[in-house]
Amino acid sequence: MSWKDNIRRVVPYTPGEQPKTTDVIKLNTNENPYPPAPGVAETMKTLGTDDLRLYPDPAASELVHAIAEHYGLRDSEVFVGVGSDDVLAMSFMTFFNSEKPILFPDITYSFYDVWADMLRIPYKKVPLDENLHIRAEDYREPNGGIVFPNPNAPTGALLPVETVEEIVKNNPDSIVIVDEAYIDFGGVSALPLIHKYDNVVITQTFSKSRGLAGLRIGYAMASEPLIHYLNDVKYSFNSYTMNRMTIRLGAASARDSEYLAETCGKIMKTRAKAAEELRRLGFHCDDSYSNFLFVTHERVPAKEIFDFLKTKNIFVRWFNQDRIRNYLRVTIGTDEQMETLVRVLADYLSERA
Ligand SMILES: *Cc1c(COP(=O)(O)O)cnc(C)c1O
Repeated sequence: MSWKDNIRRVVPYTPGEQPKTTDVIKLNTNENPYPPAPGVAETMKTLGTDDLRLYPDPAASELVHAIAEHYGLRDSEVFVGVGSDDVLAMSFMTFFNSEKPILFPDITYSFYDVWADMLRIPYKKVPLDENLHIRAEDYREPNGGIVFPNPNAPTGALLPVETVEEIVKNNPDSIVIVDEAYIDFGGVSALPLIHKYDNVVITQTFSKSRGLAGLRIGYAMASEPLIHYLNDVKYSFNSYTMNRMTIRLGAASARDSEYLAETCGKIMKTRAKAAEELRRLGFHCDDSYSNFLFVTHERVPAKEIFDFLKTKNIFVRWFNQDRIRNYLRVTIGTDEQMETLVRVLADYLSERA
């Protein structure tokens, strides 16, 4: 026996690379190419050292209220955390305490199995169908909970709300977490289900559509009792997860729905154009409902393209994982960045032919 037997050993999540230099086209971690809402920069000017000296409001009420207003919810139906990663980890801890395995897709956000392992939650990966889509009928076996992103990552495929509802309805004895990190890029949110079912939790984030990945804000929306359970766990862990500056800056972002719609609209337009041009170069990609495209080339292996792009200071994401090893996930940048990507790829593919 040694202390070594008592260590909680985990295999951590591997985030996308954050290059140290700035002269790169960074299309590898689904950040927003546009700055956050103008009110955020305005609010930054009003922050002072008191925001550092004093403890924050443990309930982050200003931020919770601004989010609730945006969706027409009660404050008691919203929970905030340090990025949706924090909110999802708290949700796993709060809602997934069964002996039965939780279910999530085999190809999905790669943090789910890391949290399950870390929290010792048994899990089962449910294979996507041959078109890499989630099938509702595959989520009908006994389980201790269900989690999936909608749109799914890294495929960008969207389930209609009716299908999400089918999964929620078929599993009344489990909590179903719908991770809507990318829902603002053209999807329809399952949010109305929280007033119809007591077993559904919707999580979203400020990191993608609101251009605030660096600030770290995520939130869950659910019926009042579920939000209460989440808060009980949070207060048993750390009361002050959100700092004063984040609460104020996040609230400023939450109040500007117009800017959100405008920037997401721009990204969706760029996405359609980029998809068309990449298809012309021999890439296949399904329609994406997120701020990235999931592409595979008809001729050239994904890893080779990935390595080549890096030599050109263009970063995209490649997953060394069964079923998707020949795909690249490309974040939608500005029109200009996507044009550069297409130009560089066109040269490469014509020389390689
Ligand atoms: C980016 C992402 C998150 C987490 O984002 P945060 O920055 O922690 O809010 C959660 N789920 C999915 C599917 C994501 O892609």
